[in-house]
Amino acid sequence: MARTYDVVIIGAGHNGLVCAAYLGMAGLRVKVVERRPVVGGAAVTEEFTPGFRNSVAAYTVSLLNPKVIRDLRLHDHGLKIVERRAQNFLPTIEGRSLLVADGRTDAEIAKFSARDAQRHAAFNREIDAAADVLRDLVLEAPPNLTSGLNLRTLGEMLKAGALGNRFRKMPAERLRTVYDLFTKSAGDYLDNWFEGDLIKALYGFDAVVGNYASPYTPGSAYVLLHHAFGEVNGKQRAWGHAIGGMGAITQAMAKAAASHGVEIETGAAVREVRIVRGRANGVILDDGRIVEAKTVAANVNPKLLYTKLVPSGVLDTDFLHRMDGWRCGSGTFRMNVALSRLPSFTALPGDALADHHTAGIIMAPSLAYMDRAYGDARRDGWSRQPIIEMLIPSTLDDTLAPPGAHVASLFCQHVAPELPDGHSWDAHRDEVADLMIETVDRYAPGFKASVLARQALTPADLESMFGLIGGDIFHGALTLDQLFWARPMLGYADYRGPLAGLYHCGSGAHPGGGVTGAPGHNAAQAILADRRWSVFQR
Ligand SMILES: Cc1cc2nc3c(=O)[nH]c(=O)nc-3n(C[C@H](O)[C@H](O)[C@H](O)COP(=O)(O)OP(=O)(O)OC[C@H]3O[C@@H](n4cnc5c(N)ncnc54)[C@H](O)[C@@H]3O)c2cc1C
Repeated sequence: MARTYDVVIIGAGHNGLVCAAYLGMAGLRVKVVERRPVVGGAAVTEEFTPGFRNSVAAYTVSLLNPKVIRDLRLHDHGLKIVERRAQNFLPTIEGRSLLVADGRTDAEIAKFSARDAQRHAAFNREIDAAADVLRDLVLEAPPNLTSGLNLRTLGEMLKAGALGNRFRKMPAERLRTVYDLFTKSAGDYLDNWFEGDLIKALYGFDAVVGNYASPYTPGSAYVLLHHAFGEVNGKQRAWGHAIGGMGAITQAMAKAAASHGVEIETGAAVREVRIVRGRANGVILDDGRIVEAKTVAANVNPKLLYTKLVPSGVLDTDFLHRMDGWRCGSGTFRMNVALSRLPSFTALPGDALADHHTAGIIMAPSLAYMDRAYGDARRDGWSRQPIIEMLIPSTLDDTLAPPGAHVASLFCQHVAPELPDGHSWDAHRDEVADLMIETVDRYAPGFKASVLARQALTPADLESMFGLIGGDIFHGALTLDQLFWARPMLGYADYRGPLAGLYHCGSGAHPGGGVTGAPGHNAAQAILADRRWSVFQR
C-alpha cells in the first residue's frame, strides 16, 4: 500500500533539500521528488566532457547561510569550502589590471586613482553595514499582508511593528544607505563613490549578475547588495569554492536529509499538484503515480508552479493574472570549458598558476561597457562585447580535471532571455559560445587554442534543464516589486501559497535566489508552525 507522507517536496534543488532536512529533523515523514536524475537543481556538479567535471550552473559560494551549514552539519557530511587566493581580477585588453586580494587591493586601486583608494575603506564600511541589515532579515519571513481582524492579522501587525522598531533604532545615515541600495541604480551609487572605471566595474558586475538590466537601471544597486550578505568560513563578503564543485553542497544536504529519514526520488517529475477539496494533498507524477501528503512544498519557480503544475481551475483569476506578470529572465549564458593550460593575460602574462588565476576574473572594464552590452542585447539578442566572469576552480581543487589540465566556468551576462524576431536559441548557441571564447581570447591571447571541449547553456537550455523560467537564476527578478513582502506576491510572502497545504520553499520566496538555503529554512519553519497550530486547534 502506498505510504502517505506528512510533506512532499517538489524539486531537490538546494532549498528543497534544506526544507526537507529541517522537516525530517522535526520527525516528519518527508519525500522529495526531483525531475532530474541528480539532486541539486542549479547547484550541481557533472562531468561535461570525459575526465572534466565542473559546477554546471552556480559556480561559487558565499551566500550559503552559516546556520544552515551548522544545523545540517554539512561539514560532517563532507562539505569543505576554501577561499580563493585573490577575490577578483579585472584585466583590460590594453594590459592594465585591478587585483582584489587581502592586503593588496588599495594599492591596486591607487594605480588608477589615489582618491578611490582612500575612499575604498569607507565604501566597504557602508556596504558592510547595509549587508548586516539584510543578513538580519534573511532567516525570517517578512511581515505578510493579511485581511480581516483576526489572530493572523494581529501577528503580522506585531511583526511589522517589531521590524519598524528595528529600523527606528538604526542610525539615520545607515537607513539612508539601505534606502539608496534598494532604490538607486548601481551606476549612480558607484559614480557617487569612485572615479576609476575598473573599481566601478568590480562592484557593478555584482549588480548585473543574473539581472537583465543596465547598471544604470534604478533598483540594480539592490542586486549588488544581494551579493554582499554572504561569507566564506566566517569571512564576510568573501566568495569561495566548494571542493568537488557546487554539487558537493547539495550532496551533503541530501545526506543530511537522508540521515533524518527523508526519502529522495530522482527521475520523478511532478505533472500536477493534487488538489482535494481545495487543499493541496500530494502530487501526481509524470508516470501517473500519486504521492499522497498532507502538505506540499514547492521548490520550483512560482510561475512554473502556478501556470504549469497547479490545475488552473482552482486558482483565483486575479492571482493567476498577477503570476503571469511575475518577471523572470536573467539573460545569462553559461559555459563550462576544459582547458589544456591556464590562460596568460596580456595584463599579467604567464600560464604558471598565480593568485589571479584563482579569482573571479571579470572581463567588462567599465559601467559604460555593461550599459552598452545590455542595450545591444535588447536590440540584437546579445552584444559583440559581452560581460564575462571566468572562474577556474581547478586552481583550488584537483578533483575536477586531469593533472595539468583545468576547467573553467564562464558566466556571461546580457544575452536576451528570448531572442528578438522569434529566433531560436538552438540556432545561435554555437555562434554565441564562439563569441564568448573569442572575447576571453582578446584578454588572454591563446585561450581559444587551449579549449579542449565546451558545454554551452543558453537561457532556453537553463529553462529546459533546470526549470529556470526564462533562464532566471533567481526564480524571478530581484526588483523592489518582487522582493521581501512582495516575493512572490503581496499576501503570500510567509511561504504559504493561496491554497491550504501548499508552501513555497524555493528562491521565488524571500530572500530570493543564490545558494543561500534561506527560503528552504524559512518554509520549513512555516510548515512546522502550522502543524503546531493545527494540533492546538484540535
Ligand atoms: C547559471 C547560473 C549561475 C549561478 N551562479 C551562482 C553562484 O555562483 N552562486 C550562487 O550562490 N548562486 C548562483 N546562481 C543562483 C542559484 O544557483 C539559484 O538561485 C539557486 O540554486 C536556486 O535554488 P533553489 O533550490 O531555490 O531552486 P533550483 O536549484 O532551481 O531547484 C529547483 C528544482 O526543482 C526541480 N524541478 C523543476 N520542475 C520539476 C517538476 N515538475 N518535478 C520535480 N522537480 C522539478 C528542478 O530540476 C530543480 O532541481 C546561479 C544560477 C545559475 C542558473
